[in-house]
Amino acid sequence: MSSTMNCPECNHEILTRMGTICPNCGYTVGYFNGDIKRKKYAKFFALTVFTPFISFITIIFAQLNKYTMFIGIAIFFYLAIKSCPISFKEIFLTKFEKIFFWLIWVLANSLIFSLIVNILIKTMKG
Ligand SMILES: [Zn+2]
Repeated sequence: MSSTMNCPECNHEILTRMGTICPNCGYTVGYFNGDIKRKKYAKFFALTVFTPFISFITIIFAQLNKYTMFIGIAIFFYLAIKSCPISFKEIFLTKFEKIFFWLIWVLANSLIFSLIVNILIKTMKG
């Protein structure tokens, strides 16, 4: 469980665990500069924030006509699958994080999905 790394400040061997203070120079291991898991976590965090935003913008522009809308929907599904917490489940440190990311994912994607449905209904009527 106690994996070690070299301190980025002085190269002294320290634990990768978050909050570890290097006895040699006082460097503190932060949330994102420990092991690879946390780097993946940072990537996932960015993905969770930006993906719904990109999907939203895509759908707004895609409603020009039914062909762009088809592409827009395809992009939405692709991004939703890519950012799904199920493929990142090994990086969650706590149960809270797991619930938190699932909530964001479900909320953001259902909002965009209802936007798509609304546009499709309007398109069919018009
Ligand atoms: Zn150090």
